[in-house]
Amino acid sequence: MLLLDRPHPDELVSSALVRGCRHYLLPMGQVLNSGWTGEDRLFGASFLGFTPLVHLANLFNMGPRALLAGHTVLTFATAFSEREVWERAVDGALGDVHGGQALGAVIRSAIQGLPHRRFCRACVADDLRTKGESYWRLSHQLPGSLVCHVHGDTLVSTKLSIAGKGISYDLPQNCQGRPCVAGNIGDLWREVAARVAEFARRGLDQPVALPISYYRDIAVERGWLKPERDVDIGRLNAHVAAVLGKAGLAACDLIPEGNGSWPAMLLQARLKAPSGTLKHILMEQFLAAPAVDLSHKPRGMVARSRSDEDKTLAAAFRQVADGYAKRGQRAAVATLLKDAGCWGIYRHKKSSLPRLQRAVDAFRTSRNACRPLARQMLPVPGQGGMVANRSGLIDGGHLISGEEAASKLGMSPRELPVLHRKGRILATAYKGHRLWYPAFWFDGRVPPAALEAAFAGLAGRPFPEQWAALVKVWEAGRA
Ligand SMILES: [Zn+2]
Repeated sequence: MLLLDRPHPDELVSSALVRGCRHYLLPMGQVLNSGWTGEDRLFGASFLGFTPLVHLANLFNMGPRALLAGHTVLTFATAFSEREVWERAVDGALGDVHGGQALGAVIRSAIQGLPHRRFCRACVADDLRTKGESYWRLSHQLPGSLVCHVHGDTLVSTKLSIAGKGISYDLPQNCQGRPCVAGNIGDLWREVAARVAEFARRGLDQPVALPISYYRDIAVERGWLKPERDVDIGRLNAHVAAVLGKAGLAACDLIPEGNGSWPAMLLQARLKAPSGTLKHILMEQFLAAPAVDLSHKPRGMVARSRSDEDKTLAAAFRQVADGYAKRGQRAAVATLLKDAGCWGIYRHKKSSLPRLQRAVDAFRTSRNACRPLARQMLPVPGQGGMVANRSGLIDGGHLISGEEAASKLGMSPRELPVLHRKGRILATAYKGHRLWYPAFWFDGRVPPAALEAAFAGLAGRPFPEQWAALVKVWEAGRA
């Protein structure tokens, strides 16, 4: 049986096997079969595989637990597992050749989103100087390791697959590659890489068991969240992306999106199954950043902000209306609403904007408001449904001036407006605010007292309504 050099600290089992092959100038199969008496030949020759572990431990003349704890992905992958999952994984790894297959899921979860082997150029240089050869570090292959936790350099991504079954006898010194992430991703990722390395060498301690509200409690304690509030997930996702940086998160395939994003699951305390180790490490880094308010604003707050909006819009509208008044300019309500930038919201949300409504009503009854054309069209008396605007009624002799009306009544033109203000005769202001009176009031076909009585019942109505109603009274009375 061959005896191989023991793995270096933080070296993968497979890396130590490759170095053994190179030392003995033997192919992997021959090294693995050395001293093997089992019937099956189900060796895990993959980069992260390590079965049968007991036999491999013999090749290195070390205990299987020490090999499992220090040189495989198991400790990192199961750091936050349920205890049962962890026990099955450890038992499987230390058991016979078949038990090792149960580890497949654990390994897959550990290397999710990691296509290629990685190394640090500075580490390789150190290794070549001190050992004459380099080796594949376990911690550099784990998710979240974008920079070397020792040197801070961005790791180099090779073309060698991390999950493939093929055997490669290459060590990092033989490989070329490109930075695994573009640009400088910041010191925070060196912290992340250091924590990844810590979890990789935590040994066969039982997994970390966190209460379900663990991160939520931290967030509340640190002032990120009000105890009684839900998390505003949109803001949480955006803030996680801002704190951790999109480039780093993208390299880990962990950009938070949507209501089911990983930070939302951890912070809302809705995570039923334990999450991957890297997510816990990232959440820990995130909650160490300066606090921001992540509390979801309940409906009451929305109502209050609508009220603030109402105040702002009403002020904007009044300012525009004042401008028209100062210039002595007339305009339709819609024009002012558009000028004030609140046309759309007024049309659709009018009922929730009482202040704006009052401002609009105030303008509508002012002398600067011009009515939409449709509202200015008035029935022409005795013309069977024909309509005309005020100018047309004046031209047709249906609206007469104060002088003419006064002469018909045999009174001073100054007395008529007084009658109008008392609500005893209809009149409308038109063209320079002169008052114009209905000609039918004076033609004697209907007693003025009847018109006056009908008019009294129309007090406070807009002129077009009063005019239309009194025309009907006149037409009915005249028949
Ligand atoms: Zn390094």
